[in-house]
Amino acid sequence: MNDVRIDDLPVRDELRGKSPYGAPQLDVPVRLNTNENPYPLPEPLVERIAERVREAARNLNRYPDRDAVELRTRLAEYLTDTSGHEVGLANVWAANGSNEVIQQLLQTFGGPGRTAIGFEPSYSMHGLISRGTGTGWISGPRNEDFTIDLAAAEKAIAENRPDVVFITTPNNPTGTAVPPETVLALYEAAQAAKPSMVVVDEAYIEFSHGDSLLPLIEGRPNLVVSRTMSKAFGAAGLRLGYLAAHPAVVDAVQLVRLPYHLSAVTQATALAALEHTGTLLGYVEQLKSERDRLVTELLALGYEVTASDANFVQFGRFEDSHETWRKILDRGVLVRDNGVPGRLRVTAGTPEENDAFLDAVRALKKEQS
Ligand code: PMP
Repeated sequence: MNDVRIDDLPVRDELRGKSPYGAPQLDVPVRLNTNENPYPLPEPLVERIAERVREAARNLNRYPDRDAVELRTRLAEYLTDTSGHEVGLANVWAANGSNEVIQQLLQTFGGPGRTAIGFEPSYSMHGLISRGTGTGWISGPRNEDFTIDLAAAEKAIAENRPDVVFITTPNNPTGTAVPPETVLALYEAAQAAKPSMVVVDEAYIEFSHGDSLLPLIEGRPNLVVSRTMSKAFGAAGLRLGYLAAHPAVVDAVQLVRLPYHLSAVTQATALAALEHTGTLLGYVEQLKSERDRLVTELLALGYEVTASDANFVQFGRFEDSHETWRKILDRGVLVRDNGVPGRLRVTAGTPEENDAFLDAVRALKKEQS
């Protein structure tokens, strides 16, 4: 029985020969490879989570609030407070990580016979979730400096007439922010071609020099902004993502969401975290300055560095980036090889972790000279 492989099973044709998402989870002293927040949740928040979860545990014999009303209300308040644009319960939907939000959007607006486009290199899960939902994937272009090539992107949209357009800002793995004018131009192009849904993935927006594009949802029912508590909130283990859009979009994703998809424990934990946004956003400020320090120091070492608006930095160039990745790992620091030729990505960690990383690349430079 051990010799049965995936392809011996009657799996869907489009899944044959493909690999799953697989950032290595290695046990090394310094892990700077998955854009996590390096700071554990503060103790008062841990206590509050325990309290809220204890309360929720008393009702675990019942299904959770299917519509997650309290949580969506608090998320809407957070978005309103931080963007200056008023949104309410009806504009917000939540799921288990923004990956699930994206999956629900693709189940609703993509699917067999439909296509989605992203501008690569970008977040690999947009393509993988497209495939998983039977949505055809189109890889759109970027400029050499990793900004979106607007004319080429508009052309790709006009020619392919995709049903879903992904714009990741700040982009992963490059850190590149997309200006609002570009997003608006792509939105117009997408409406002229089909019309299609435009999903602005703002997983890293709290780390950006610029503002959220959330206000753009006003008067644009086909624009969705997706967000997560995995990065700025330091709660990757919680699995909580959310979106803001016209209420009709929230109504539409109800058609595909599993009933009671968001457990009572998840809702209680996320609500506790939302009571501590002040402290958590304080860590974001620290990470932004560490991100800027990484950029400065990598440039000083003579690396090519992509301007970053996120909590990570793309750097290079390397003749063999995988070999360099391995050499940095040999020094106890795990960074990420996203498959972008000649480049690697490092997540901003604590000052000590970043020092360890900088020592490792400094040693590499010495070795080469
Ligand atoms: N979008 C982008 C651009 C990401 O980089 C990530 C995580 N790496 C996600 C979405 C998914 O995050 P989560 O499911 O943890 O919310």
